[in-house]
Amino acid sequence: MYFNKEMETLTRPEIEKLQLERLQKTVSHCMNSAFYRRRFEEVGIKPEDIKTLDDLKKIPFTTKADLRSTYPFGMASVPLEKCVRLHSSSGTTGNPTVVLHTQKDLDQWAEAVARCLYMVGLRKTDVFQNTSGYGMFTGGLGFQYGAERLGMLTVPAAAGNSRRQIKFIKDFGTTGLHAIPSYLGRLYEVMKEEGVDPKRDTKLRTLIIGAEPHSEEQRRRIEEMYGAKAYNSFGMSEMCGPGVAFECPEQNGMHIWEDYCIVEIIDPETLEPAKEGEVGELVLTTINREAMPLLRYRTRDLTRILPGECPCGRHHLRLDRMKGRSDDMIILKGVNIFPIQVENILMNFKELGTNYLITLETDDSNYNDEMLVEVELSNPLTDDGRLQSLTREITRQLKDELLITPRVKLAQKGSLPQSEGKAVRVKDLRKTATF
Ligand code: ADP
Ligand code: ZN
Repeated sequence: MYFNKEMETLTRPEIEKLQLERLQKTVSHCMNSAFYRRRFEEVGIKPEDIKTLDDLKKIPFTTKADLRSTYPFGMASVPLEKCVRLHSSSGTTGNPTVVLHTQKDLDQWAEAVARCLYMVGLRKTDVFQNTSGYGMFTGGLGFQYGAERLGMLTVPAAAGNSRRQIKFIKDFGTTGLHAIPSYLGRLYEVMKEEGVDPKRDTKLRTLIIGAEPHSEEQRRRIEEMYGAKAYNSFGMSEMCGPGVAFECPEQNGMHIWEDYCIVEIIDPETLEPAKEGEVGELVLTTINREAMPLLRYRTRDLTRILPGECPCGRHHLRLDRMKGRSDDMIILKGVNIFPIQVENILMNFKELGTNYLITLETDDSNYNDEMLVEVELSNPLTDDGRLQSLTREITRQLKDELLITPRVKLAQKGSLPQSEGKAVRVKDLRKTATF
């Protein structure tokens, strides 16, 4: 039932006792970080002031902007020679965010992921295929080490090449598959083209879906396509990556491992705690990290804590499906994109005006989510050759910046809708969007 029975079955009082111990240790340890030392001085608090879990509120929030401004190593709480890995978050403008890990951090991360995978019924005898991008994307190595820790035969198939993915699924007898939900629609289409029926021709039984928002309906559709159970997996690079919160077999919200972090839900406007059970911004404090602990990190993800106990026996809080973000970040095919990144590229071209529109849509033929970028020309241009080469060059630069390839359409000046007041830059028409 449990990968780590002791931690997974802690009662509420036991969780809180452990959290306070670990919080106090973490806060003291944070004084090795130049950033947190200064922060604590600025607001006039000392680690000794944290006497109860409620005292956490005395500590200022940490934001993505803090991570960027301390790029690359300013948040570290250990000397660099103790760190063995660095991950960096995808799709941000300016400085990326860097997360450092010691060997102990990596071990604990692997255990968190192993716990999640075991929780949904995966065992040593399973074959686990991971379709995440490897490299800086934490979904690659994160699931790899977690699945290996559990003892599964793990296939680092990485992203793309659907025909090869299908061949591996069939030939290796893959039973567990990790993929972003939008990709599973596409993979199913390719299976159909190849005459492969996942229910008849594969051993797929457990799907892990996450890294991007999706609806309950989308999950059910995926489960029907593949004849397999699909479990929601939530994580982010700042919190290591996958393994932060995960559904149990009850599929009624994602347990968040409270021996690893302390959960708060705040009102993103007032920054006060949200009312019990209400949707707000998820704020997380890591309590087991060495290289780079984060205190009250504002994730920007909007969710709520589900009421009541879970029949599975775990008392770790359950988060509702993510409801969106409190910033303007778009998640397309698991890649984080800020509209300003698109704007910055477009503004490099003197041929282009300032009015543009990003439309996110689902291609009905293959369930693929796509980005359309429409932008007005600054002056009339009718030379077809010139229009085509300009479109190609814009597409190339956007692809380099965003890591996904958008469709680019040039529009004549004045032809795109002009919004009054705050410009509406993004239209989300995705079938799968939950917000
Ligand atoms: P990843 O490589 O997992 O996408 P990032 O750090 O690049 O990690 O992105 C993390 C963000 O992705 C989260 O803050 C959240 O907005 C989104 N995300 C991750 N998992 C889910 C999920 N299961 N449901 C909705 N959004 C998710
Ligand atoms: Zn449960």
